[in-house]
Amino acid sequence: MKKIVILSGKGGVGKSSISASLAVSMAKDKKIVCADCDVDASNLSLLFGLKTEDYEEWKTLSTDKRAVVDEKKCIKCGKCIETCYFKAMKPVEGIPKVDEFGCEGCGACKLVCPVGAITLVDVENASVGYAKTKQGFMIASAQLRPGASGSGKIVFEVKKKATTKEPEADIMIIDSAAGIGCPVIASVTGSDAAIIVTEPTPSGYSDMKRALAVVDHFKIKRSIIINKSDLNEEMSHKIEQFCKEKDIPIIQKIPFDKAFVKAMTEMKPIIEYEKRYEKIFEEIKKRILEL
Ligand code: SF4
Ligand code: SF4
Repeated sequence: MKKIVILSGKGGVGKSSISASLAVSMAKDKKIVCADCDVDASNLSLLFGLKTEDYEEWKTLSTDKRAVVDEKKCIKCGKCIETCYFKAMKPVEGIPKVDEFGCEGCGACKLVCPVGAITLVDVENASVGYAKTKQGFMIASAQLRPGASGSGKIVFEVKKKATTKEPEADIMIIDSAAGIGCPVIASVTGSDAAIIVTEPTPSGYSDMKRALAVVDHFKIKRSIIINKSDLNEEMSHKIEQFCKEKDIPIIQKIPFDKAFVKAMTEMKPIIEYEKRYEKIFEEIKKRILEL
């Protein structure tokens, strides 16, 4: 199974809209599966018109840990509080209290406790599930609990679920989170090709370069889509020049189109909302498969 990851350094550039339409286009002649790896704000399902109740199972995940102090064993030495880099422990009458949202589960406090009063317990931080889209292919998705961390590990679980549910798929379309943090790195890891979606704005340009640095670190074949390309012709040209110098193919330039927003409000991929996008996504598909 080949994995194509769609990412963008910056949010709001149309990454999920493009992922959804590319999936629909690819599903015409390939067996595909989607992995919605934007686990902090998963919305790829919405673009396929799916709701939470359309998912066949929501399995609770515990990929994170949290420190728990045994007050009976604690001798109030304060070493754990001094050690916690995340300032997630505060003394209450000498006994450390753990801030459940601040604790990163690193285990440093456990290591320094002289009496073994600290243990690390599993935290239920997300649910992962799968559904069948009306277009006929499967999608795996996750929902992170509010305030929970460990989203990189959840991304691996989403990809695992997608693989398990559709082991015979030719292609997995991975909709990554925005940014360049842990969930993005987890999304990109193991991919065969990357599409970076950008827009011609200063932040779009800057964040595209940051996303490229992540992809290049993993030595993955990469390409660019400039969405809303006519918003700022000068900036668009700058992005094209940059890509030319770095030998990065621009596989499509899509002018600004309000239809993207309208399609989203109707919970449809743009390719199904406006027929003329079929040809555009045929071209994108052809170019990415050539990579
Ligand atoms: S596990 Fe790490 S983050 Fe959590 S309280 Fe202990 S030292 Fe702090
Ligand atoms: S290091 Fe152990 S004994 Fe010392 S304050 Fe923390 S929990 Fe209590």
